[in-house]
Amino acid sequence: MQRLLIVEDSKVVQQVLRHISAQYLDVAIDFAWSLSECKEFVSKHSYTLALVDLTLPDAPNGEVAKYTLLKGIPTVVLTSKMDEYKRLQMLELGVIDYVIKDNRDSYNYAIKLVAQLLRNQGCKALIADDSVLSRTLMKQMLEKQLFAVSEAHDGRQALDMLKNDAEIKLLMTDYAMPTMDGFELVKAVRNFRGRDDLAIIGLSGASKHGLSARFIKYGANDFLTKPFMNEEFHCRVLQTMEQLSLIADIKESAFRDHLTGLYNRRYFYQYAEKLLKNKNQKNSLVLLDIDFFKAINDEFGHDGGDQALKQVSNLIRTSFSNSTVARIGGEEFAIILTQVEVEQAEKCLNLFIQKFASYDFTISDKTLSITASIGLAEFQNTSLTAAMRVADRALYQAKEQGRNCVVLNSTLQLAEVTAIR
Ligand code: GH3
Ligand code: MG
Ligand code: MG
Repeated sequence: MQRLLIVEDSKVVQQVLRHISAQYLDVAIDFAWSLSECKEFVSKHSYTLALVDLTLPDAPNGEVAKYTLLKGIPTVVLTSKMDEYKRLQMLELGVIDYVIKDNRDSYNYAIKLVAQLLRNQGCKALIADDSVLSRTLMKQMLEKQLFAVSEAHDGRQALDMLKNDAEIKLLMTDYAMPTMDGFELVKAVRNFRGRDDLAIIGLSGASKHGLSARFIKYGANDFLTKPFMNEEFHCRVLQTMEQLSLIADIKESAFRDHLTGLYNRRYFYQYAEKLLKNKNQKNSLVLLDIDFFKAINDEFGHDGGDQALKQVSNLIRTSFSNSTVARIGGEEFAIILTQVEVEQAEKCLNLFIQKFASYDFTISDKTLSITASIGLAEFQNTSLTAAMRVADRALYQAKEQGRNCVVLNSTLQLAEVTAIR
């Protein structure tokens, strides 16, 4: 579990930071008022990151940053003013970045920076450069940003590493390298990793005009001209990674249902289509439809119905935590079960439907029981349309049989199934 330590002596600033953190961060956070309180926290917990104010009553000259860095905690500093001497002093000490507290937006910037650093933690980065010195320096800087860093001494080696590891999210590549240069590498990588999926920052010497622009044209997200300052390096990397995260967030929200947080119909269709086409694996498709849901809306109103949908969703999600669950219609859900025999799936669903029927749902302080009907079908190497029609047929049968039950498609007449294929 990631843990953040914020050291700030101003009550107002602390409040602002608490407020913004609640919006952007999903980690444990401790707030300290002073260096001595900070020491107490550090003795009790281990921290992923620290955000510290340079001027505290018991530490007026940045002693708190020296302390957190000494304890090996990557540190971002907050300061009300920063002269050139202090700035260099801080960067030399090894802080990741500093934020000058001169307006409300600086606190937003600080927390967003922290959020990005926390996201970087454990994220893989690769450096492709033939200079050992250059690799070592960049490795240190990326590790400060919490990346797990690996190195390649030329483009060819980097390409092989990227082909074998889809988890590498950042590539820093030099231009001039033996066997394969930076341009060739970027071009080759972009054949199988898109700009939204792998960030590439190209590096080139200042004397080589036009290289940086060509890096971008070949598919790099950004570039840095050598020699660069550490601060510039950090800003470019952080900004590029932030863009990647924002795109990932947008994609994620496009695939989620607003009300329940489950995957939506759009995601389900894309995901299921891929799975069902797999020739080597049998999968089970489950369609679940709440029984007499209209009656719940009629009794409790639309908001009450929404509450029921949320609770039903949570129950399905926690009961099938290893499977993909989607809300594909108003009160209809789909689950894809992989690596389970369909008979096993049927048993498991029968148990689930009993649990569902005996569960106490609470709407507007009133407890009520809800039941659901389930259609189940097993598929291998088929189209999603065919799969859905057969599972839907089983669901229809379950409704016909009196609801609150599971029907497996193999219990349908073979001729019937063939007819609807
Ligand atoms: P059956 O047992 O045959 O499935 O009956 P039912 O009442 O569950 O099914 P029906 O399809 O007749 O009605 C579904 C209702 O779900 C109608 C619709 O107004 C309601 N509904 C659909 N989406 C939402 C939603 O997002 N929120 C709420 N509150 N109701 C919704
Ligand atoms: Mg229904
Ligand atoms: Mg329905």
